[in-house]
Amino acid sequence: MNWVQIDKKSRVQKDGVYTDWKQQVSDDCQNRCVYCSIHENPWGGIDHYHIEHFRPKSKFKKLENDITNLYHACPVCNRFKSDDWPNNPINLDEICYPDPSDHNYTDLFELDQNDFTLVGKHVASRYVVNRLYLNRPQLVYERREQVLKIRAEELIAETTSLINKTEDLTLSRKVSMLLIEMYQHLNVRSNIAPYRLIEIRKK
Ligand SMILES: [Zn+2]
Repeated sequence: MNWVQIDKKSRVQKDGVYTDWKQQVSDDCQNRCVYCSIHENPWGGIDHYHIEHFRPKSKFKKLENDITNLYHACPVCNRFKSDDWPNNPINLDEICYPDPSDHNYTDLFELDQNDFTLVGKHVASRYVVNRLYLNRPQLVYERREQVLKIRAEELIAETTSLINKTEDLTLSRKVSMLLIEMYQHLNVRSNIAPYRLIEIRKK
Protein backbone atom coordinates (compact mmCIF):
# COMPACT_ATOMS: atom_id res chain seq x y z
CA MET A 1 0.00 0.00 0.00
CA ASN A 2 2.70 2.48 0.95
CA TRP A 3 5.81 0.88 -0.43
CA VAL A 4 8.50 2.85 -2.18
CA GLN A 5 11.56 1.69 -4.03
CA ILE A 6 14.42 2.16 -1.58
CA ASP A 7 17.40 4.11 -2.83
CA LYS A 8 20.43 2.13 -1.73
CA LYS A 9 22.66 2.77 -4.71
CA SER A 10 23.61 6.25 -3.54
CA ARG A 11 24.45 5.16 0.02
CA VAL A 12 28.09 5.52 1.03
CA GLN A 13 29.54 2.78 3.19
CA LYS A 14 30.77 4.07 6.56
CA ASP A 15 33.02 2.66 9.26
CA GLY A 16 31.05 1.04 12.04
CA VAL A 17 28.54 -1.73 12.56
CA TYR A 18 24.97 -2.08 11.34
CA THR A 19 23.45 -1.14 14.69
CA ASP A 20 25.05 2.33 14.33
CA TRP A 21 22.83 3.17 11.37
CA LYS A 22 19.36 2.34 12.64
CA GLN A 23 17.99 5.86 12.21
CA GLN A 24 19.44 6.18 8.73
CA VAL A 25 18.06 2.79 7.69
CA SER A 26 14.64 3.77 9.06
CA ASP A 27 14.77 7.10 7.19
CA ASP A 28 15.85 5.34 3.98
CA CYS A 29 12.71 3.21 4.24
CA GLN A 30 10.51 6.20 5.15
CA ASN A 31 10.06 4.74 8.64
CA ARG A 32 8.06 1.82 7.25
CA CYS A 33 8.59 -1.93 7.17
CA VAL A 34 10.16 -2.73 3.85
CA TYR A 35 7.95 -5.82 3.43
CA CYS A 36 4.50 -5.00 4.81
CA SER A 37 4.83 -1.18 4.59
CA ILE A 38 3.38 -0.57 8.05
CA HIS A 39 4.70 2.60 9.67
CA GLU A 40 6.79 2.22 12.82
CA ASN A 41 4.64 4.59 14.88
CA PRO A 42 1.72 2.27 15.68
CA TRP A 43 4.37 -0.10 17.03
CA GLY A 44 5.83 2.50 19.35
CA GLY A 45 8.53 3.87 17.10
CA ILE A 46 11.92 2.92 15.76
CA ASP A 47 13.12 1.00 18.81
CA HIS A 48 10.47 -1.63 18.18
CA TYR A 49 11.54 -2.20 14.59
CA HIS A 50 14.50 -4.29 13.50
CA ILE A 51 17.38 -3.83 11.14
CA GLU A 52 16.72 -6.35 8.42
CA HIS A 53 19.61 -8.00 6.60
CA PHE A 54 18.08 -8.56 3.17
CA ARG A 55 20.74 -11.15 2.44
CA PRO A 56 20.83 -12.95 5.80
CA LYS A 57 23.97 -12.32 7.80
CA SER A 58 24.13 -16.02 8.70
CA LYS A 59 24.68 -16.81 5.01
CA PHE A 60 26.36 -13.60 3.80
CA LYS A 61 28.77 -12.79 6.60
CA LYS A 62 30.58 -10.14 4.54
CA LEU A 63 27.35 -8.18 4.13
CA GLU A 64 26.59 -7.95 7.84
CA ASN A 65 27.65 -4.29 8.01
CA ASP A 66 27.06 -3.40 4.37
CA ILE A 67 24.70 -0.41 4.28
CA THR A 68 23.23 -1.53 0.95
CA ASN A 69 22.04 -4.78 2.52
CA LEU A 70 20.18 -3.15 5.42
CA TYR A 71 16.47 -2.34 5.58
CA HIS A 72 13.88 -1.40 8.16
CA ALA A 73 11.45 -4.19 9.12
CA CYS A 74 8.68 -4.71 11.63
CA PRO A 75 9.36 -7.49 14.16
CA VAL A 76 6.73 -9.78 12.63
CA CYS A 77 8.06 -9.69 9.06
CA ASN A 78 11.62 -9.83 10.34
CA ARG A 79 10.87 -12.94 12.38
CA PHE A 80 9.00 -14.69 9.57
CA LYS A 81 11.82 -14.02 7.12
CA SER A 82 14.56 -14.90 9.59
CA ASP A 83 17.48 -16.28 7.55
CA ASP A 84 15.32 -17.61 4.74
CA TRP A 85 17.04 -17.16 1.38
CA PRO A 86 15.73 -19.49 -1.33
CA ASN A 87 17.41 -17.84 -4.34
CA ASN A 88 19.22 -14.72 -5.46
CA PRO A 89 16.65 -12.13 -6.61
CA ILE A 90 17.30 -12.31 -10.34
CA ASN A 91 14.03 -13.58 -11.74
CA LEU A 92 10.60 -12.76 -10.29
CA ASP A 93 9.27 -15.97 -11.81
CA GLU A 94 11.37 -17.93 -9.35
CA ILE A 95 10.99 -18.22 -5.60
CA CYS A 96 13.03 -15.39 -4.13
CA TYR A 97 12.74 -12.11 -2.24
CA PRO A 98 12.54 -9.23 -4.73
CA ASP A 99 15.24 -6.69 -3.94
CA PRO A 100 13.52 -3.58 -2.46
CA SER A 101 16.19 -1.39 -4.08
CA ASP A 102 15.40 -2.83 -7.53
CA HIS A 103 11.61 -2.93 -7.23
CA ASN A 104 8.84 -0.82 -5.82
CA TYR A 105 6.89 -3.50 -3.95
CA THR A 106 3.67 -1.67 -4.90
CA ASP A 107 4.14 -3.07 -8.40
CA LEU A 108 4.49 -6.64 -7.17
CA PHE A 109 1.04 -7.04 -5.60
CA GLU A 110 -2.61 -6.46 -6.32
CA LEU A 111 -4.98 -5.42 -3.57
CA ASP A 112 -8.33 -7.23 -3.46
CA GLN A 113 -10.76 -4.34 -2.94
CA ASN A 114 -13.36 -6.61 -1.35
CA ASP A 115 -11.43 -8.31 1.41
CA PHE A 116 -8.25 -6.12 1.41
CA THR A 117 -5.91 -9.06 0.96
CA LEU A 118 -2.78 -8.91 -1.17
CA VAL A 119 -2.23 -11.16 -4.16
CA GLY A 120 1.28 -11.53 -5.56
CA LYS A 121 1.63 -10.94 -9.30
CA HIS A 122 4.69 -13.16 -9.65
CA VAL A 123 6.04 -16.36 -8.20
CA ALA A 124 8.41 -14.29 -6.08
CA SER A 125 5.78 -11.92 -4.72
CA ARG A 126 3.36 -14.80 -4.03
CA TYR A 127 6.15 -16.43 -2.06
CA VAL A 128 6.67 -13.23 -0.05
CA VAL A 129 2.93 -12.99 0.73
CA ASN A 130 2.88 -16.57 2.02
CA ARG A 131 6.20 -16.68 3.77
CA LEU A 132 5.84 -13.32 5.55
CA TYR A 133 2.09 -13.82 6.10
CA LEU A 134 1.27 -10.47 4.49
CA ASN A 135 -2.45 -11.18 4.83
CA ARG A 136 -2.35 -11.36 8.59
CA PRO A 137 -5.34 -9.68 10.28
CA GLN A 138 -3.33 -6.66 11.46
CA LEU A 139 -2.29 -5.80 7.90
CA VAL A 140 -5.75 -6.43 6.44
CA TYR A 141 -7.12 -4.05 9.06
CA GLU A 142 -4.56 -1.35 8.20
CA ARG A 143 -5.29 -1.64 4.48
CA ARG A 144 -9.02 -1.45 5.07
CA GLU A 145 -8.55 1.70 7.15
CA GLN A 146 -6.53 3.30 4.40
CA VAL A 147 -8.98 2.42 1.62
CA LEU A 148 -11.95 3.61 3.69
CA LYS A 149 -10.20 6.90 4.46
CA ILE A 150 -9.62 7.56 0.77
CA ARG A 151 -13.27 6.76 0.03
CA ALA A 152 -14.44 9.06 2.85
CA GLU A 153 -12.34 11.89 1.37
CA GLU A 154 -13.87 11.28 -2.04
CA LEU A 155 -17.37 11.44 -0.55
CA ILE A 156 -16.53 14.69 1.22
CA ALA A 157 -15.29 16.15 -2.06
CA GLU A 158 -18.45 15.04 -3.90
CA THR A 159 -20.71 16.46 -1.20
CA THR A 160 -18.76 19.73 -1.23
CA SER A 161 -19.23 19.98 -4.97
CA LEU A 162 -23.00 19.42 -4.64
CA ILE A 163 -23.48 21.84 -1.79
CA ASN A 164 -21.63 24.57 -3.71
CA LYS A 165 -24.42 24.43 -6.28
CA THR A 166 -27.32 25.03 -3.90
CA GLU A 167 -28.86 28.46 -3.44
CA ASP A 168 -29.98 27.66 0.09
CA LEU A 169 -27.24 29.51 1.98
CA THR A 170 -28.32 28.30 5.43
CA LEU A 171 -28.18 24.68 4.34
CA SER A 172 -24.91 25.28 2.50
CA ARG A 173 -23.28 26.80 5.59
CA LYS A 174 -24.48 24.03 7.88
CA VAL A 175 -23.36 21.20 5.59
CA SER A 176 -20.00 22.92 5.01
CA MET A 177 -19.38 23.08 8.76
CA LEU A 178 -20.19 19.38 9.09
CA LEU A 179 -17.87 18.52 6.20
CA ILE A 180 -15.03 20.49 7.76
CA GLU A 181 -15.53 18.67 11.04
CA MET A 182 -15.60 15.31 9.28
CA TYR A 183 -12.37 16.13 7.45
CA GLN A 184 -10.68 17.18 10.68
CA HIS A 185 -11.65 13.86 12.29
CA LEU A 186 -10.17 11.96 9.37
CA ASN A 187 -6.92 13.92 9.60
CA VAL A 188 -6.57 13.39 13.34
CA ARG A 189 -6.95 9.64 12.85
CA SER A 190 -4.31 9.41 10.16
CA ASN A 191 -1.81 11.94 11.42
CA ILE A 192 1.64 10.35 11.57
CA ALA A 193 4.81 12.04 12.75
CA PRO A 194 7.90 9.86 13.03
CA TYR A 195 9.34 9.36 16.48
CA ARG A 196 13.03 10.10 16.61
CA LEU A 197 15.33 8.03 18.80
CA ILE A 198 16.03 11.08 20.90
CA GLU A 199 12.32 11.50 21.64
CA ILE A 200 11.60 7.98 22.86
CA ARG A 201 14.72 6.92 24.73
CA LYS A 202 15.16 7.74 28.39
CA LYS A 203 17.81 10.34 29.02
ZN1 LIG B 1 6.38 -5.84 8.27
